[in-house]
Amino acid sequence: MSDEGDLRPVSQLAHRVAERPAGAAEPHLPVTQWFELHPVPVDRPAAGVTEAQVRCGTCGETVDCVVASVAGRNRERAAARWVRNLLRAIQVFGAGLGVAAVVYGAANGTAISGAGLIGLIAAVLTGGGLVIWAGETVTEVRPDLTSDGVRLASPSPVHEIRRPGDNYNYTFHTDSALGGE
Ligand SMILES: [Zn+2]
Repeated sequence: MSDEGDLRPVSQLAHRVAERPAGAAEPHLPVTQWFELHPVPVDRPAAGVTEAQVRCGTCGETVDCVVASVAGRNRERAAARWVRNLLRAIQVFGAGLGVAAVVYGAANGTAISGAGLIGLIAAVLTGGGLVIWAGETVTEVRPDLTSDGVRLASPSPVHEIRRPGDNYNYTFHTDSALGGE
């Protein structure tokens, strides 16, 4: 994957539009939102972050974007990987706990006392709960392993930072009203 020598972000400034932009192919999916994408011609700082005004090619306004250094971007990716791996480890642990409790119960059957049985059931429920919790959390958090280290300085009703070519949504975002100019 080319990162333009890491100098400039690959992410683009997206402006939400009401209709399919000219030239965009109609995907075989129910599209809820279209975006026009514009480059973010900002050189990454040597360290930390830089804030730059990026002109939107759709509305002509400048949008404040925050661009991280290469090291900062890589830290974001590493942090996302760490979160994902931790949640995976919790899932594996939970599954192992549940399976071990079931196997132990099956092997020892009648020799298990009332308190032991309660402990086994608790272990199975805890293990299953951890598997479900970690699975839901990873879906909710969506660790961005390919973070580009670019974000808007402040939320915008019509602008977003998006991937090149990622110019539509086909799942409805309940937290963002349909905008467009
Ligand atoms: Zn715009």
